[in-house]
Amino acid sequence: METGKLIVITGPSGVGKGTLVRELLARHPQLYLSISATTRSPRPGEIHGKDYYFVSRQEFEQMVQRGELLEWAEYGSNYYGTPRAKVEEILDMGKSVLLEIELVGARAIKETFPEALRLFILPPSTAELERRLRGRGKDSTEAIERRLDRGKVEMAAAGEFDCQIVNDDLDEAIASLEAIIEESYS
Ligand code: ADP
Ligand code: 5GP
Repeated sequence: METGKLIVITGPSGVGKGTLVRELLARHPQLYLSISATTRSPRPGEIHGKDYYFVSRQEFEQMVQRGELLEWAEYGSNYYGTPRAKVEEILDMGKSVLLEIELVGARAIKETFPEALRLFILPPSTAELERRLRGRGKDSTEAIERRLDRGKVEMAAAGEFDCQIVNDDLDEAIASLEAIIEESYS
């Protein structure tokens, strides 16, 4: 994982993207995870500047107008976007950058960074996805329903991605993710 590559990780909410990314970063500290800006309120325990840059709608719209975002999308009545400057700086240093983003953003990246490696994470089943989303206990019942609906739309687009990884057994999913990323460098 020596040369700079943009790696996009997408999948329905609750599938385990955050869990997989945390593991990947622990094993490969040279990877850089882009910190997104969002208008969503912080969940308990989330830290500004670590999990997200939590900004107002007005601040977000200004970032869009100034061209400061590499991509952005609306998700569950909030905005989410990738700050451009840091990603470009890290890639210019020859390091790899991970983006954990939803489908609209992943499609935009395909246009602007056609060489990016785009990976889609699938659950073993829709029932298990729902179980994980409810078990996480961080979203309201209404938000969970919306996330499940959006997740189904996203999963229908999994074939657009370079690779699909089923996150059933966590260790196996991490191993697959590592193997695919390693292979992309050769
Ligand atoms: P996402 O970032 O895709 O929304 P999270 O990483 O927050 O998903 O994971 C959602 C829930 O599923 C968490 O409670 C997490 O611990 C759990 N989880 C993640 N991967 C697995 C797995 N392979 N098997 C069982 N539970 C998992
Ligand atoms: P959550 O509210 O669960 O943190 O994130 C909701 C969705 O927004 C997830 O699918 C997550 O991958 C996506 N997301 C997070 N940051 C960004 C971003 O910068 N851009 C886009 N397009 N999606 C993002």
